[in-house]
Amino acid sequence: TEKQSKYKRILLKLSGEALMGDENFGIDPKVLDRMALEIGQLVGIGVQVGIVIGGGNLFRGAALSAAGMDRVTGDHMGMLATVMNALAMRDALERSNIATRVMSAIPMSGVVDHYDRRNAMRYLNQGDVVIFSAGTGNPFFTTDSAACLRGIEVEADVVIKATKVDGVFTADPMKDPSAKRYLHLGYDEAIEKQLGVMDLTAICLTRDHDMPIRVFNMNKPGALANLVLGGDEGTLIDR
Ligand code: UDP
Repeated sequence: TEKQSKYKRILLKLSGEALMGDENFGIDPKVLDRMALEIGQLVGIGVQVGIVIGGGNLFRGAALSAAGMDRVTGDHMGMLATVMNALAMRDALERSNIATRVMSAIPMSGVVDHYDRRNAMRYLNQGDVVIFSAGTGNPFFTTDSAACLRGIEVEADVVIKATKVDGVFTADPMKDPSAKRYLHLGYDEAIEKQLGVMDLTAICLTRDHDMPIRVFNMNKPGALANLVLGGDEGTLIDR
């Protein structure tokens, strides 16, 4: 029997930190290969996959600014970091024979394509994985906001945020063993309870445009495919 996906098109948000594996900086090729495998499972069942990748494993504007650098310059470095991560991710996906395009919100002729919504949707329709890099192209935003923005723009069915824990919890499950996972949260609840799922800009954008968010554990093998097939994974945030 053919496995049936719940979603036709998803927007997957991968943080830069997830790419570090057990290191404190940079990219762990083993992690990339594992992610390529997980993403390949989705492509295999016909899901169209857009990815927004973060840059926190390399540079973050806020951290650079705290160390004395001009904030906008720091944010530019952060956005360029996401392009490096996107290139590494594309490399891993293509080694797994998954056709992949990288687009950048900041034009970078000769390295990656400039973001163009209609081209992105064409690539997604033909089954290519599309990695959206350089965030929104603007300082003072995050790649979570970029993920929500691109998800809404390309008409994804859901924004799926990969984390290190099994979803959104009542408290930090790494510190508090009695913390409980929310199966579902309303947008306003997620904002009021200050659960830190995503920044306000990102959640408000999804709320205004009725885009559901699913938060799940990317370290759990098979969780991504299970989620897409309708399994109970992580936390759903919607109306
Ligand atoms: N960034 C930005 N505008 C955007 C997206 C990202 O200026 O639209 C910068 C910002 O400095 C941020 C860095 O890029 O800290 C890396 O992105 P993010 O922190 O969201 O990465 P993640 O936490 O997902 O690894």
